[in-house]
Order: sequence, then C-alpha cells, then structure tokens
Amino acid sequence: MRIVKNGDVHVSAPIGIPKSEVERFVEEHRDWIAKARKKTCESQQRRADFYNQLPLRTREQADDALRRLKALIEPMVDRHSKEMGVQPSSIYYKAMISRWGVCHIREKSICFSAYLLLLPEWCVEHVVVHELCHLLEPSHNARFHALMDKFFPRWKEARRATIKCVKFY
Ligand SMILES: [Zn+2]
Repeated sequence: MRIVKNGDVHVSAPIGIPKSEVERFVEEHRDWIAKARKKTCESQQRRADFYNQLPLRTREQADDALRRLKALIEPMVDRHSKEMGVQPSSIYYKAMISRWGVCHIREKSICFSAYLLLLPEWCVEHVVVHELCHLLEPSHNARFHALMDKFFPRWKEARRATIKCVKFY
C-alpha cells in the first residue's frame, strides 16, 4: 500500500484475494494512511513554497528573472566551456520544475531552469558544468562522472546540497 502524489491510496494485492479482505486491510491501516497523506501533502507544499519564491507571473517578473539568469549563468558557461573545450550553440531558459537543466546534444543547445536563481551559486555552477559535460558525454556513465570529477570535483556534494534546497526549504 502506498500514497501517490495527489494523496490517493494505491493498494496492490495478489490475484484471488477477495475485495472484502483488501477493504478490511485498508480499514485497519486508517491511521497510517492519514499520517502518510499528511506527510505527502506537507512535502508537496514545501516544494510549492520553494518554487513560489520566484514569481514569474508578470512580464516584469519574467524579464527581471531572465536578466538575472543571464548575468549569473553566462559567465559560468563562458569560463567552463573554455576550460572544457566545448562550445554550446545556444543557451536558453525556461520555468522548469522537473529538471535544472537539459542538454540537447544534437543541437548543442542547453536549457536551464529559471529556478536556478533560488539555489546557492556553487549549486548553479555544478548544474552548468553537468550540462556542459553532456556535450562531451551524453549518458550519465563512468566517463561522465570522470569528467565531472575533473571539471567540478565537488559535484557530489553540490548535487546533495541542491536536492536539500528543495526538500528542506
Ligand atoms: Zn545529465
């Protein structure tokens, strides 16, 4: 039995178990369900609160975010791409919440999440180096990790710190 994102309860049982027995099982775990639901709701709320720190509803807000993103990220891209010997064709920004960055390997373009503005600078830098590394190695394999070790030695720590920013905000 588990709680999914929207708060629904999903129960799986072996084939042949009568429905009444499944219902009884759910009934017996009522407290557990209530607690787990509350926890899911709270973490969803924390996530929403985190992203809401950067309002992007109006034209002014979006323009301001774009200006700040360019000032933050472009110097990092310049510096690291020189060091790494890569050349992205274009850099653009989107209000992505599912990912911090996406590298389109064939076009050599990189999209960064506007919400990077909510992270400490070294976390942003680790995302920048991560996406630039994809221009050298598309998959997250041993070669990719070796490249990260070389060009951003504290990447594991930075990745943990980045996850914490959203989770424990
Ligand atoms: Zn990646």
